[in-house]
Amino acid sequence: MSRDEIAKQLRGTRKEVESAVKTIQSQFNHIRNGGTSSVASDALRYEINILSKLSFALQDNCHKHADLYCDIVASMLPHVEPCATKPEFWARHLGSLHYIYHAICREQTIEECQRFYALVNKQRVHLKNKTDYKLYLNIHIRHLYFFGQQIQIQPTSTAKNQLCLALQAMGVLFQAMQRQNGGYSELIAELNQILGKRSNSFLKILGTLPVAYSNKMYEPLFKLLASSGSTTDELNTQFPEYLSALLALIQIDGFSWQQQAEEAPQQLALQLLRCCRESYKELTSLNYVMQLLYYYLKLLFTRDSAQTTDLKRHYIDLTKKLINFFEHKGAAHAKEQWFIDFLLVFVRVQKLLHQRNGKNNCFEVFWQGLGGTDSAETYTAHFELIQCLITMSMDISSNSPLAASCTNDSKCQSLRKHCIFTLGCCATNAYSFWQPSAQATLQKAAQESLAGIIHYAVDVVKVTKCMVATSAELLNFVWHLNNIADKVSSGTQMALLQLLVKPLQQLRSLLGDQEMRQLLRRLYKAGSYCDNPELAAQLQCTFIAATTCPARQFQQICVYYCNAKNSIPKCVYELHEMSPLGNPLTTAQRRKLYELDMVAVMAHRKTPPLLQSLLRHRQTDYQLVLLGRHMRTDTTILNRFEELRLKLQKKRLTRLEQLMLAHVSVSKILELDEKNQKTKIPMKEVTERSLEELCIKYNLLDVNIASEKPRVQLATAVIAAFEAFYNQADAERLSSDEALIDWEALIDDAICAAKALSSMGYMQQADRAWLLLLRISRMLGDRFTFLRAISHFMSHYTQHALFDMAHEVEHAQQLLDDLWPQIRSDHFLKRQHTTLMLCLCQMALYYARLDCLSHAQLLLLHVERLRDQFQERVGKCDVVLLTLQSVRFRICYQQRHCSILARMPTVYQQLDTLTENVRKFTSISSVDLGALYMLLSDLVRDSTECTANRLCELPNMSISLLQVLLKSGLVLRTVEVLISWMWTNLRMECMDKALSKLRLIEHFLCIQPLSLAQPISKSSSLITTPMDAQSKHMTELVGKMLSMQLEQGTASVEPIRKQQQLTVSLPPLKIQSQNANRLKLQRYLQETHPVIRDSNQLQCIYFIVGCFHARLYFLNREYDQLDDFYSMANDWLQRDTERSNALGHMLLVLPVYQANYLRATNKYRQAIEVTESALKLAKSEQLQQRVDVNYRYNLLLQLRTAQLELQPKPVAKTRRQQQPRRALQFNVSPEDKPKEKSKASKTKPKFTIYTEDSSLSSGSSPEENKRFDLNSCQLIEIIDLSDEELSPPLPPPPLTAAQVKLTKSLPRTAQATRSTRTRAQKQLETPIVPARRVATAPNTLGLTSSISRRNTTPEDTPKTTTVTRGRTRRQNAVEEQPVTPLVKMDSMSTRRRQRN
Ligand SMILES: [Zn+2]
Repeated sequence: MSRDEIAKQLRGTRKEVESAVKTIQSQFNHIRNGGTSSVASDALRYEINILSKLSFALQDNCHKHADLYCDIVASMLPHVEPCATKPEFWARHLGSLHYIYHAICREQTIEECQRFYALVNKQRVHLKNKTDYKLYLNIHIRHLYFFGQQIQIQPTSTAKNQLCLALQAMGVLFQAMQRQNGGYSELIAELNQILGKRSNSFLKILGTLPVAYSNKMYEPLFKLLASSGSTTDELNTQFPEYLSALLALIQIDGFSWQQQAEEAPQQLALQLLRCCRESYKELTSLNYVMQLLYYYLKLLFTRDSAQTTDLKRHYIDLTKKLINFFEHKGAAHAKEQWFIDFLLVFVRVQKLLHQRNGKNNCFEVFWQGLGGTDSAETYTAHFELIQCLITMSMDISSNSPLAASCTNDSKCQSLRKHCIFTLGCCATNAYSFWQPSAQATLQKAAQESLAGIIHYAVDVVKVTKCMVATSAELLNFVWHLNNIADKVSSGTQMALLQLLVKPLQQLRSLLGDQEMRQLLRRLYKAGSYCDNPELAAQLQCTFIAATTCPARQFQQICVYYCNAKNSIPKCVYELHEMSPLGNPLTTAQRRKLYELDMVAVMAHRKTPPLLQSLLRHRQTDYQLVLLGRHMRTDTTILNRFEELRLKLQKKRLTRLEQLMLAHVSVSKILELDEKNQKTKIPMKEVTERSLEELCIKYNLLDVNIASEKPRVQLATAVIAAFEAFYNQADAERLSSDEALIDWEALIDDAICAAKALSSMGYMQQADRAWLLLLRISRMLGDRFTFLRAISHFMSHYTQHALFDMAHEVEHAQQLLDDLWPQIRSDHFLKRQHTTLMLCLCQMALYYARLDCLSHAQLLLLHVERLRDQFQERVGKCDVVLLTLQSVRFRICYQQRHCSILARMPTVYQQLDTLTENVRKFTSISSVDLGALYMLLSDLVRDSTECTANRLCELPNMSISLLQVLLKSGLVLRTVEVLISWMWTNLRMECMDKALSKLRLIEHFLCIQPLSLAQPISKSSSLITTPMDAQSKHMTELVGKMLSMQLEQGTASVEPIRKQQQLTVSLPPLKIQSQNANRLKLQRYLQETHPVIRDSNQLQCIYFIVGCFHARLYFLNREYDQLDDFYSMANDWLQRDTERSNALGHMLLVLPVYQANYLRATNKYRQAIEVTESALKLAKSEQLQQRVDVNYRYNLLLQLRTAQLELQPKPVAKTRRQQQPRRALQFNVSPEDKPKEKSKASKTKPKFTIYTEDSSLSSGSSPEENKRFDLNSCQLIEIIDLSDEELSPPLPPPPLTAAQVKLTKSLPRTAQATRSTRTRAQKQLETPIVPARRVATAPNTLGLTSSISRRNTTPEDTPKTTTVTRGRTRRQNAVEEQPVTPLVKMDSMSTRRRQRN
């Protein structure tokens, strides 16, 4: 078969190949056995020929029959040998082997590859040509590399064996080469195919092969290298190759150390350097660096820990030599390649040295030796070396294959930057692993040098383009920085970090958020050792700002503020802003951080510096507003607020702006309040007599209803703005990005405005404010605010036009049920105790008004018990006790016919106790004082009605309240008190005092200013003169009084003063002033004044003042304007029923006055009309609250009198000179009291009075006493009258007949039942009345009683009873102001009991 056919067959089918195998084997055998002299060369030639055909075949049929090809090779290879004459044949033979090997050295033919490699190795190594070794070496290197790859894919023993075989084979080759002794100058370059040019992982495989096998290669290798005999030039060229191999060997050593730490170290790198020492001894410079490297590595590879005692000294010495070399040679050779190569290799050695992973590190012993407590000097030297290397690296001008390849980007050109960063990492690494105790011993200079290295590394890395967040080297660098920070346990260590804080900020652009946060966390922890507290705080705040979870961030901010050590007067936000490591926050993040910070400051440390600090960084006006709320004493804040307020007022507002306007307006209110509070009026100067002087003295002339108006408007605007904010919630949604709404602030300020409105007394506006608070607090679940709001309503209403009160009260009840059992636990504040108990009190009042008296009573008892549980309240007169008592008073006073009430002390007793307790008031919580003022205001109004209708005074409460009101500039409230007082004065007929009040009221209501020109002394004399005159004429009067009354008979409806003046020529009061305007009553009814134009409440006040003024005219017998006035007043009432209804009780006062006037002017029919309609009104539901029973009595009496007056005058009865039966000492002001009292005790009254005893013991005829128990039963008769109030007027009989008829007309049964009731009442009442008081049964001055009285003999009454203790009885049957069912006299108190 021809050779061509063989070639064809080899490329053919398997069968063909098999046949080719046979052919080749037979042909080759034929040649071998040819017997010619050229058998060897022929065989070789044939073999070469066949091998080349195999090569082609392999390529053509894609290795299909590689096994058969191996058979061919196996049959020939053992039998071929080099031919001495034709060495090129051997080269071709090796070349073919090399080619075939490369062809089959692949995954698919791995078995054939091994077989083929074994066949090659089995043959003896023949090196006939100079380059033959390269072919062998190439096969071995290929084999090593291929199986190195295999072992990486799957570590099998086969692969490992193949690697060992390859090493062994290479050893054999090197030995053969050694024998050849032929100068293999390129060997080192070839070797770098498996060393310097291979990856780390490949070197690792080499390093982990059994030492025995490795040595079989390395030993002959190093021998060969040592004797390579290269020329100087060659050595120069090979220098980088040696360095490259060296680096590989260092790594192999390292891996081998890890693998076989126990075995004798190979130290291949040192072996290589040792053989180089031999070859390079002629080249001084290169040899020197080799020497340096040798000693340096030798030290690094120290294995014997016993040597480490000297290690530090040696290392310091060596670093000095190295630094010296670099600094001196460096200058001369900086541009030469060998120097650059060496420098780069040295940098890489450093990198390897600092790669310390795990304990099995080949440099472990070195690092241990370097460490220790006395290691500062060695480390200093080490950092100096690194510093020196960095300086050298900066001058690297050209590239070198020896440089470490960039792991981030294969095209990376930043060799220099990488070098410097690597060195920086090395320094960081070295320090990071150093023991913390030793770290602390590093000198400041060395520390600075180290910081400089790290700083420079950071500077470089941030401009290295290939560096990204995930770069291993960068992560490693950061890990060590973390580790350094983590180890900080002293100020010295922290000092290094302080130097690094600024550089680290530049890392931000490179690091991931997570890494940066970790680093910040460690730095903040290390900050606790910082000698600069502000920096420490900044670090902490930086970490806080870097936290992404808002809840955790807030928690950390709170932790920061709660730590007392953090005393920097700056807020977290500001500290973060100032921090050298500040986080680059987005606007939204900044906003969030700021808002959380603000909330935390408000909650934990609301100090002025922190607030100021927050203020400096505020981002929105809303924040300004929230902060400024707490800095209301700061004038700059107030100015800013005012600017903001004025700005906001001018525009159409968004929801948030509404909120801001409300908050800033509250500040304005408080500012105004404070201005008002500046007037300090001493309590002792506030007396009834000196009020006008007081107003002038304390410059209250510009205080009036108009001056109060801005505050009212402000507070109303505040509520309107809050309301707008609240109501628009759905229409105009606010995301939390826009603003973090501070609802607590909203509630606080809304309460502030509501309280202002309440305390100023503007009910309509206050209702609206509290209603808003009710709604908001219910929505927010703010229980105590809800209770406060509902308390407001419960204390005034039983139902409200604006909301379903019953429903809300029910909710309040649920809250109270839930709250009261736990109210004593520690987390409830005192003001919350107060709020809860006050709410219960007001609820009692609410239920009492709804006629649920038992429930009310139970609630009050409950409050009492609850209050007793608070130690701080027991035995004190706190606002809860006062409210409790005042509620009882109100219930008692407004309710009638109730058995529960019968057991309660009488209203006067209660008022007395209250007055006494108010004096002893103790403030327990912050809400107490405000509640007290409100309580007093209501109390003065209620008690005035009560006392005035019963003809006595309670000036003390009014005086105390007035002082507070004037001091606080609360005009409307002042007017209310003055009206109350004037009312009392009118009732007592103290016209001068009433006039004084009127002047004051007119002043405060902007009707007529108090003029300085007005002679104060004269006016004050006016107050006293009538009194003197009165007392002077008293005796005279007494004698005439009864006769007058008798003369006038049933028509004696005139006030006693009027009678007095008729007889005692006392000059009428000069009501008129210079200003004629004062005369015109109609101005009270004209709604022209701008202040009152839009306020029903003020119009009502004006109206009431008008009524009082009219009354004053009437009492002074000036009737000119009264007709007009009363007709206008009635028009006024009809004009606006809603407004009229707001007048409440005053709706009854007007007809009482009017009827008086009409009767005085003999317009009886009109008087009857007026009284009848008023009586209808008194019974109607229109008056929501119960009205004082006295109005009805009065009206009834007037009605009856008018009806009688309408009758023809009866024949005058027998006149008998009688002593008037009444106490005649009117109008005694509290100041005059002692004088009056002593006088009363000295001079015996010259008139007869009735006492309980007198009426019972003697005097009156027994029949009459039988019929009318004058001391206890009068009420019955009055009630009887009231029952008949709507009955048709009686026919006009003669007086006596009428009397009899009236009496007899009483149904017997009714009389009987009523008398029993009264007795029962008396029995109940008597035991609880204190002994010193005289409990008086309701004294009725009913028609029948008076008539019957007239039948009694006055002389019969004992004259011994004293005025003060006795019960005086007015004989006058029909009285101008009847009433006084319950009059108690406290002989010690300043209150005078008066009966008329
Ligand atoms: Zn790079």
